[in-house]
Amino acid sequence: MNLIFLGPPGTGKGTQAERISAELKIAHVSTGEMFRQLANEGNQLGVEARDKYWGKGNLVPDEITIGLVKERLKKEDCRNGFILDGFPRTIPQAEALEKIININYVIDIESTDEIIIQRLTSRRQCVNCKKIYGINVPPKLEGICDVCQGKLYHRDDDKEDVIKERLRVYNAQTKPLIEFYKSKGLLRIVNGENPIEQIKADILAIAKK
Ligand code: AMP
Repeated sequence: MNLIFLGPPGTGKGTQAERISAELKIAHVSTGEMFRQLANEGNQLGVEARDKYWGKGNLVPDEITIGLVKERLKKEDCRNGFILDGFPRTIPQAEALEKIININYVIDIESTDEIIIQRLTSRRQCVNCKKIYGINVPPKLEGICDVCQGKLYHRDDDKEDVIKERLRVYNAQTKPLIEFYKSKGLLRIVNGENPIEQIKADILAIAKK
């Protein structure tokens, strides 16, 4: 089962990908997480990508992103399937992906800008295990991860001015993918404003068809 999760930033792609990949026993491939990890490790490409692109709300260039994903999909854990969370984000990325692998469904998780801004400004993530918390999923102890007791942090690109830029970029560069995948019969839409468990059930119903 090879899935793509599409939708604006903060619509719940990461939260759902975390849960659904565990349920279906497939890999969770998040390009955003790959970039953050590279930057944290001090990797030159990762630091440059942060300083020039994602730290400002812009997309990392296609050549770099496509190269990373191609290598990632060759890994053993992707053999049974995967969820692409945050890739593709441009038409050239989608065309490159088409050449290397088949996709079963593209799940478009939709939310309004208002809800997105509210969610992202309150989103926190664990520095260790990367679990995501937010208004609907608060940690038991403020600032501490329920799972591994790691510290929770607020992503720099989850600040309001960067969020607005990310939404602008989404509308200009990523939204056209909705038509792209619709025309191929792969698109399925779910309402990202429903409760988390409902969204999860909706996605599983599509994936298990
Ligand atoms: P995310 O965690 O998915 O919100 O991604 C964080 C940031 O990483 C994005 O705002 C982009 O700058 C960058 N990024 C993630 N995925 C891609 C992609 N497929 N293409 C280009 N940039 C990406």
